Amino acid sequence: MGRAGKAYVGLVSSPGGGLFLDLAELSDDEQLLREQAHRIAVEVLRPAAWALDRMTPAERIAPGSPFFAAMGTLKALGYHRLFLTPEAGGPEQRLSALTQSVVLEELGWGSLGLATAFLVDMLPVMCISSFGSQELKDELMVPWVEDETGSFHGCWAITEPDHGSDFIAVRDTESATYGRSQLVAEPVGDGWVLRGQKSAWVSSGPIATHAAVHAQAGGDGDLTHSLFAVVDLDQPGVRRGPPADMMGVRDDPQGEIFFDEVVVPRQNVLIPPGPLYPVFHDQLLCLTSSVISNVAVGVGRAAFEEALHHSRTRIQGGGPLARHKNIQLTLYGMFERVETARAYSRTTLAHTQANLPGASAEALGASPRHARAAQVFAKRTAYEVAHDALQVVGAQGLSRDSLIEKLFRDARSLLIEDGTLEVLALDAARDLIDNYEHSTYDMEEMMATW
Ligand SMILES: Cc1cc2nc3c(=O)[nH]c(=O)nc-3n(C[C@H](O)[C@H](O)[C@H](O)COP(=O)(O)OP(=O)(O)OC[C@H]3O[C@@H](n4cnc5c(N)ncnc54)[C@H](O)[C@@H]3O)c2cc1C
Repeated sequence: MGRAGKAYVGLVSSPGGGLFLDLAELSDDEQLLREQAHRIAVEVLRPAAWALDRMTPAERIAPGSPFFAAMGTLKALGYHRLFLTPEAGGPEQRLSALTQSVVLEELGWGSLGLATAFLVDMLPVMCISSFGSQELKDELMVPWVEDETGSFHGCWAITEPDHGSDFIAVRDTESATYGRSQLVAEPVGDGWVLRGQKSAWVSSGPIATHAAVHAQAGGDGDLTHSLFAVVDLDQPGVRRGPPADMMGVRDDPQGEIFFDEVVVPRQNVLIPPGPLYPVFHDQLLCLTSSVISNVAVGVGRAAFEEALHHSRTRIQGGGPLARHKNIQLTLYGMFERVETARAYSRTTLAHTQANLPGASAEALGASPRHARAAQVFAKRTAYEVAHDALQVVGAQGLSRDSLIEKLFRDARSLLIEDGTLEVLALDAARDLIDNYEHSTYDMEEMMATW
């Protein structure tokens, strides 16, 4: 339990019994995976997250930190392979989107920070598996996928000190030409050289071995001038800023990465500058939105279950809190929102995966407005449910010894992580206005044929 010394006051239970309508579709193996994922969330992620939350930023990244133990457990159990295709080293039969969603929700239920660390770790490998040369796959992807100790860890270096929302609001014409990036790439010999930095908010930035990096290879912010590369962070010219001391998601260290004349071999540039880059950027954001929404459902469910447990056991006004009508209505509202967010997030993840370019001959491309809507809805739900849960728990929920207090801070951070709600919604609105096809009819003509 680290410096805290105290166990948290909260619910440590079996998987949310009776909460899920669609799990009958899971095979026996998938049901086992779901139970295992929940057990890991209970026995590994929550205790590690609880300890990390109370540590100083430096303690969180020191050798022996619970962060490394938790990541090591996920690797030892092969969770980093779960989401890959069989060709990339994933399960013999690719996990269904439903099963992926179930696992993501359990990870989010256990810890938003550690779930985030897990997701950004997977990003470079997933991109190499889709866009990397065979040489890069053999050199980097294979050992990464085979690693069972946590010797590899990825991060996603996209935002910069002066470019946060710019990278999310890609359909906004002003933001899509955001000016000079703070990380530039120049061709040199048989590769590229990187100069500049990424923002202090890069999840796992302080400890990652490799980064999936977006950099600008031209004079302005037009996305066709950008490139995407996987960069080894253990090389001359790479420097890290101190880990940030954040309000929420403290269980995943965040920090700047500086690049001073860092050479990136050509084969590590997965998407070079050109017309493919904007499409890649857009579709990658569809994938991250669809994934994070399922994690957010886990955060909301965790808060709901804490409130439910508390209201059944806390006696006030002559009986359990759950006897009071206002508490009943609040609990119902939380349940309704979590269930709705789950249903939409699952559907959207399935649609995104089936339609990413290359997923099949019929793939249409993932839908930005749907992916963004899933993310906005699930994150807002997680925050509103955590807010209501705190009200149900009362003063105890404000105490640092209450899991609700941590969930509330994490859920609040979700409204900013991976794009603010407003910017995600504006980006979806732009897609909606430009591309939504609706039927039109002439009222007079219609009445004439009535
Ligand atoms: C927990 C956490 C984890 C993160 N992990 C990563 C990571 O792994 N990698 C990484 O690179 N980054 C990461 N980030 C950074 C994250 O993506 C940004 O914080 C986010 O995109 C918002 O950018 P910003 O914080 O710079 O806010 P800003 O862009 O400065 O926005 C500030 C405010 O202005 C509004 N705003 C900004 N631009 C517009 C616009 N065009 N139209 C309308 N409103 C606008 C926003 O909605 C917001 O309210 C993380 C952040 C958090 C909190």
